[in-house]
Amino acid sequence: MKANITQVRSVNKRFNIFTSLRTNPTPPDPSPYAPLGNTTYAIKDNFATRKEPTTCSSKMLEPYISPFDATVVTLLDQSGSSCIGKTNMDEFAMGNSTISGHFGPTLNPVYPQAQDLEQRIVGGSSGGSAAAVALDLVDYSIGSDTGGSVRLPACYTNIYGFKPTYGRISRWGLVAYSQSLDTVGVMSKDLNTLWKVFTSLDLSDSKDPSCLSDSTRESIAIERLNSKKNVGKKFKVGIPVEYQLAELGDDVKSSWKTLLNKLQASKLIEVYPVSVPSIKYALPTYYTLCTAEASSNLSRYDGIRYGYRVKEDECNTKIEPEFITTRNLGFGAEVRRRIILGNYALSSYGYDSHFMKATGVRGMLIDEFNQIFKDRNCLVQKKHFQSTAGVDMLIVPTTVSEPPSIKDFSKMDTVKSYMNDVCTIPMSLAGLPAISIPYGGNSMGFQLVGQHGQDYKVLEFARLVE
Ligand code: GLN
Repeated sequence: MKANITQVRSVNKRFNIFTSLRTNPTPPDPSPYAPLGNTTYAIKDNFATRKEPTTCSSKMLEPYISPFDATVVTLLDQSGSSCIGKTNMDEFAMGNSTISGHFGPTLNPVYPQAQDLEQRIVGGSSGGSAAAVALDLVDYSIGSDTGGSVRLPACYTNIYGFKPTYGRISRWGLVAYSQSLDTVGVMSKDLNTLWKVFTSLDLSDSKDPSCLSDSTRESIAIERLNSKKNVGKKFKVGIPVEYQLAELGDDVKSSWKTLLNKLQASKLIEVYPVSVPSIKYALPTYYTLCTAEASSNLSRYDGIRYGYRVKEDECNTKIEPEFITTRNLGFGAEVRRRIILGNYALSSYGYDSHFMKATGVRGMLIDEFNQIFKDRNCLVQKKHFQSTAGVDMLIVPTTVSEPPSIKDFSKMDTVKSYMNDVCTIPMSLAGLPAISIPYGGNSMGFQLVGQHGQDYKVLEFARLVE
């Protein structure tokens, strides 16, 4: 168990981490038999909870209280853990800074000495969840990762951030941003805690049709890295040539090299260059698909069923219908931009040239990843699976450079700011498990990436690298 509620409140005042804090959190189960007994956690404010509002850091949902708990929340309760509050995020999880939400920016605790807007961004969109862990307010936190939202803020705050295989943890009760990419992720400073949280949540759920079935889970071959058979064996680590990006900072390049050299010197790995050509197109592919799905998912916020509704005297129904004013005032600029982009991708003008093309590139990317990994993608039948490169794992940077200041980031061209996601998005499109591990100094981290379904291999590998 970490900080007490008085400490949490005072830290929160300074860093703006929580959108709500529980006044009387249920004490964690002290029993040694509870898998997560004696632990506390914080959860991103896009997971439905009955005890407080679920706002997605948006004015649109500011007053909304869910009548049910997300599956993740129920499972963590059952495991004996105690939730202390909901964390700040980019509005509807769209962003990588945690400055775009209705409740203002969360500050990055790694740079506490900097003043106001000279403060660095904490990363996003699960920035509040990352800061809560970095400041030792909780043992772990839950975020959502659609294109990097757990891995990027984890990297910027020097902690572990794990995005499991798509479909491994139930999304029931996670407010949909882009349902074919949304995953539930875990952040912690301690790999054992992270592992235990993942095992408590790694279950099929009939309420989420995209959650992997029991039979698929059973078909996943688990290779113990520390088993007798593997003792003294070197792991084949692939380095995709497409990650040699012009934008990679010198410090990232040199830490990447140092990490690989260290692992090679300890006889743990052999390094192989590999190629995944479609990685080059991952960023525009992602932004086409996620905006398309978001435009559809966010159409439900019309001020009629729930959430914010504009007051009668605030709207001129001669100019526009009430629900349009509600959406214009309820959503922030980035969310509106993405709804417009997504509508274009799904319209008769953009469907073939944008949406279908992006869907095709995503398929190619998945095929290319299948070619390089030794393990079988658990969604591909055995008879269709063939690997050419046979690598166990990839090791690539989580981000291209250190976090910019809030001031610089706010002035940045929007499309340029999407560049911060370039390292994390390929795994999201392919649904691969990836953990960002802190390495190389402040706000630097590297992703260990495994084949679809090989979550435990990724976590075990992280332990070896630790
Ligand atoms: N930055 C990416 C986006 O804005 C990823 C966000 C996320 O993973 N939720 O879409």
